[in-house]
Order: sequence, then structure tokens, then C-alpha cells
Amino acid sequence: MISIQNQIVLITGASSGIGAACARILADAGAKLILAARRQERLQQLAAELDNKSADIHLLQLDVRDRLAVESAISNLPPEWSDIDILINNAGLSRGLDKLHEGDTQDWDEMIDTNIKGLLYLTRYVVPGMVKRNRGHVVNIGSIAGHQIYPKGNVYCGTKAAVKAISEGLKQDLLGTPIRVTSVDPGMVETEFSQVRFHGDSDRAQQVYQGVTPLTPDDVADVIFFCVTRPTHVNINEVILMPVDQA
Ligand code: NDP
Repeated sequence: MISIQNQIVLITGASSGIGAACARILADAGAKLILAARRQERLQQLAAELDNKSADIHLLQLDVRDRLAVESAISNLPPEWSDIDILINNAGLSRGLDKLHEGDTQDWDEMIDTNIKGLLYLTRYVVPGMVKRNRGHVVNIGSIAGHQIYPKGNVYCGTKAAVKAISEGLKQDLLGTPIRVTSVDPGMVETEFSQVRFHGDSDRAQQVYQGVTPLTPDDVADVIFFCVTRPTHVNINEVILMPVDQA
């Protein structure tokens, strides 16, 4: 296991769920954290919590769908935060659960722009620095939805299949460098994800977990922590982690 003490980790979607859980476990291990999301107040709450552990935190209010904002945020990082060692592309969402031919095209745009294009923008603007410094690790949060297509999952599953392909493509493109690329693909995790999917309809959101004990955000963060702390010659290409009772 390698130490990640003082390594600079950028986590997108750090304001809740899996991203926030990653921030907690990485802060405990002494990493320096750049926490990115749109909800500034949620980031501030998390930063206040981590401050109690003397964590070194930099906040970025950022909409990953906005390419120019991503480019500017990365190029204008203060010098002491600019050498990103680990990028965790976690920001993502699902909207709706509809048959494709009845789907809401705005929902499609939101999923494609966030889950695919947002991940691409962060990768495009962060990885060149890693290449220059000859070190780094990109962790993309995919999903079991990128492997198993479920009824009415059409566009969300498509975005996560794209994340899987993009992770594999990036790995190919970085062959010959020491930069690692990992895709972490969970099954059901109990976060705000379902609330967001059903626009705040709590009853519908809860129904998703019927008959399944979902993973917790900490379960996923533990796996990510394992991946980023392997010896530098070891790359975990892909991890699928599932609730025991999810098909
Ligand atoms: P949450 O809804 O709890 O967290 C999603 C995070 O993404 C939030 O911090 C949100 O922050 C951020 N986000 C969404 N849109 C944007 C945007 N445009 N710009 C910046 N940040 C954004 O859900 P999870 O923690 O569950 O989701 C994290 C990842 O895990 C996602 O990629 C999801 O697809 C994936 N996943 C989730 C599973 C689950 O069952 N929960 C299963 C498999 C994969 P804010 O709103 O403040 O911007």
C-alpha cells in the first residue's frame, strides 16, 4: 500500500453521496482535497466537518457541464493546488425512468452533459498536467448500468457504457506513462441519487431499494481508497461492486 499523504485529489460531485464519502476517507489518510460541485453551501458544510480533522481543503463551485468553466477552474487553481495527483470523476446523475420513445429530451441532455461530457472536460484539462509531471491516477465512477441494461434505463445506461469505453480508451492512450486509470462501477448505492432521478419524489426513490440492502457510499469509497493506494506498478482497471442481493 502506498501513502496518499499530501497528494492532491480533485473529487467532482463532492457535495453528497459517494463523493463526500471519498472526501472523508481520503482526508483521514492525509490527502489534500479539491472538492468540486455546484452546491457551495454543501461543500462548505463538508469542509467545516473535515476542518475538525485538520484536513487541507480547497473548494471549487463548478458545473462540470460548462466546458469553459472547467477549463478556467483548472487553469486558475492556486499554484499550491495545481499539481493534481488523483482525479475522481464522480459527478453524475440519472433523470427519469421512461421508455426511450417516451423520454424527456431535457433529461437526456442533463445526463449526457454531466455523465459523459463533464467527465471528458475534467479529464481533458487535468490529465495534461499529470502527463507533464509523469504521475497521476484517474478514477472514473461508472456503474453496473454500463454493463447490464435494465428496462427504461436506456439513456442513463448509455452514459455509463460510455464511461466504461472512455476509461478503457484513456488507459490505452496513457500506455507508456505511469498514469493509472480505474473505473469503479457500483450497483445500487443509497445516496441522493434516487431523489435526484425522480425530482424529489421520496416514495418513488425509496421503492428503488425494495428487496435490496443497498451499498453505502462508504462501501464505494473504501474500494476507491483501495485502488488509489496500490503500489504504483499496479493498476486496478475496473471494479464492479454490488449489493449481495441485487441481480
Ligand atoms: P448523489 O446525488 O448523492 O451525488 C451526485 C453528485 O454529483 C453531487 O455531489 C452533485 O453535486 C454532483 N453533480 C451532479 N451534477 C453536477 C454538475 N453538473 N456539476 C458538478 N457536480 C454535479 O449521487 P451518488 O453519490 O450516488 O452519485 C455519484 C456517482 O455515482 C454518479 O456518477 C452516479 O452515476 C454513480 N453511481 C451511483 C449509484 C447509486 O445507486 N447511487 C450506482 C452506480 C453509480 P451538486 O448537485 O452540488 O452539483
